[in-house]
Amino acid sequence: MNTINVGGVEQFSLVDYPDKIAATIFMQGCPWRCPFCHNASLQPAGIDTHFLWDKFLAFLSTRKKLLDAVVFSGGEPLMQDELSAAITEVKSLGFKIGLHTGGYRPKMLEKVIPLVDWVGFDIKAPLEEERYKQATGGINHLPHVIESLNLLLDSNIHFECRTTCDPRILDLPDILQIGKYLQNKGVKEYYLQKYRPIPTDTTTEDADCEKFFDSPELLSWLKSNFIKFDVRK
Ligand code: SF4
Repeated sequence: MNTINVGGVEQFSLVDYPDKIAATIFMQGCPWRCPFCHNASLQPAGIDTHFLWDKFLAFLSTRKKLLDAVVFSGGEPLMQDELSAAITEVKSLGFKIGLHTGGYRPKMLEKVIPLVDWVGFDIKAPLEEERYKQATGGINHLPHVIESLNLLLDSNIHFECRTTCDPRILDLPDILQIGKYLQNKGVKEYYLQKYRPIPTDTTTEDADCEKFFDSPELLSWLKSNFIKFDVRK
């Protein structure tokens, strides 16, 4: 493997892979600039941090009986040209593999789907060009997102969709619109995540962030139209 860009590691996580104890590796590099991003330091592609990758593998080899899974997160892991080789290395140690992605690069997703056990797929906004551009910082990658979602649906892989409910760019009807789109596509699991204001956002109130979880009609529709639905605060 030539280059892998590691931005950070969470050695123990109970929240990054459903019902599994995981270590999470945060990859550098993201083509998007979501206004709600808490990982802005991971957005630049960065320098070769292969040495950190080797350290991570050494750490994993000491955790074989203590961890169930390793999650590749970011940044956008699909940016990594060597992602498939990296996953193969971790998989050979016996861990389940999770992937967090926004679906930016379907060709890479297609390559790694056979290696991955579970995917957390971010849906940033209603799947319309202008809305998605607004939620991802101005570049239209919506066709890539839809292609990636279709790849997940056409595979047998276990995956969920989730949306961060940033009240600066989304409102309740948007969530219903996203929900209807995903339900029509055949998505089985959908989650709403509470937006926690980024440090530069000094005006969004907690009540603005909570409003997505206060609508019985919206929650009821989502509960009855997905096999699994929940809110994460
Ligand atoms: S896709 Fe994730 S890492 Fe990239 S800008 Fe958006 S929130 Fe940040």
